[in-house]
Amino acid sequence: MQPTPLWFPYAQMKSLPDPLRVESAHGTHIHLEGGRDLIDAVSSWWCVIHGYNHPHLNAALREQLDRVAHVMLGGLSHEPARRLADRLVELTPAGLNHVFYSDSGSVGVEVALKMAVQFWRNQGLDAKTTFLALKKAYHGDTWMAMSVCDPDDGMHALFKGTLREQLFLDSPRGGFDADADTLEPDIAVLRKTLERHSDTLAAFIVEPILQAAGGFHVYSPAYLREARRLCDEYDVLLVFDEVATGFGRTGTLFAAEHADVTPDIMILGKGLTAGYSGHAATLATDRVFDAFLGDNASTALMHGPTFMGNPLACAVALAGLELFEQEDRLGQVARIESILKEELLGLSAPGIEGVRVIGACGAVEASDPAVYKGLQSFAVERDVWLRPFDRNVYTMPPYIIEEDDLRRITGVIRDWFTGKRT
Ligand SMILES: *Cc1c(COP(=O)(O)O)cnc(C)c1O
Repeated sequence: MQPTPLWFPYAQMKSLPDPLRVESAHGTHIHLEGGRDLIDAVSSWWCVIHGYNHPHLNAALREQLDRVAHVMLGGLSHEPARRLADRLVELTPAGLNHVFYSDSGSVGVEVALKMAVQFWRNQGLDAKTTFLALKKAYHGDTWMAMSVCDPDDGMHALFKGTLREQLFLDSPRGGFDADADTLEPDIAVLRKTLERHSDTLAAFIVEPILQAAGGFHVYSPAYLREARRLCDEYDVLLVFDEVATGFGRTGTLFAAEHADVTPDIMILGKGLTAGYSGHAATLATDRVFDAFLGDNASTALMHGPTFMGNPLACAVALAGLELFEQEDRLGQVARIESILKEELLGLSAPGIEGVRVIGACGAVEASDPAVYKGLQSFAVERDVWLRPFDRNVYTMPPYIIEEDDLRRITGVIRDWFTGKRT
């Protein structure tokens, strides 16, 4: 690519091919300058859950635009922010009654981590500042969020030594349906770690059920139920990062529902605003919230991003939640899951280590990332936009995807591995 002022993410700018130029997008399709049309297999990093240019979302945004595009949430409030907070409290697991907004998933995670530390500090427990997390975890690109990502195999491994050192456990084994015997060693290690470090641990943070960007690892709801019980026993907060899993991706509106567990703190992002703008929400229970109450500002939550509660973001998020009812989103996710299972689960070819399907997410893991060299252009030639990363190629399509388009995506993945590359 010729040098340009535009610096692209996660890319070696010296060798980056000229990125495809997008003119517009509708539904599941991205239209390129020059007339090509691609099926988006990855929902623009998983956020465009209702498809591009949805008339209901566009209308909500236009209507709000004519009222007010932005106003600070410091000392002012507005109806979209209040109504969205009410809706999120209604829809998320029972007990999450308080909503703090921010402008991206990473910042939502920062807020959660800060909230956990200050929760203990406000009670005089200043030593509880460390976090427990899982290997294969990904929680964002900002500094403290990076510290709870997998420190060895994650994409921030090169910053090791500069980040705050946290505690890590192996990802739970055995997949979604793991039996008790398979899970027992992982639960035993969790128990021992909480027991040994409860004096210094502020919280255990996990992506519930599906660890997404760290490798598409799926694990059992039973592990989350045990984590809830043990965190209560050892007085450590439990934080669910549902930035990727929230809003239907794993088949239920929130992944926490698979386990019927309420975390102390939960983070939402990505699908929250359906790709229309950056926004996130960090929800907390009464117990967490109440620890910030006091007679002066010294115990108040010390955070406040400029764009928190942005009215356009809140209005589009509310309209997106309406679509879950009007257009049967969870029914569509169930249909996607059954097609992905049919198309991908039986796939076996040299180089494939494993295949995982949950909800509207299907991932194939290879033993060597080199196997994907050339896959992106192979897919584009077949009118599909895929972005393999590390050892995985995956699809997380918009929930409105038509069956033919979905089978076209899985066809590209299958053909790549089975050698039908002509
Ligand atoms: C994407 C992601 C984040 C970070 O969200 P950004 O909006 O990119 O900052 C955090 N946690 C999880 C689980 C994610 O998938």
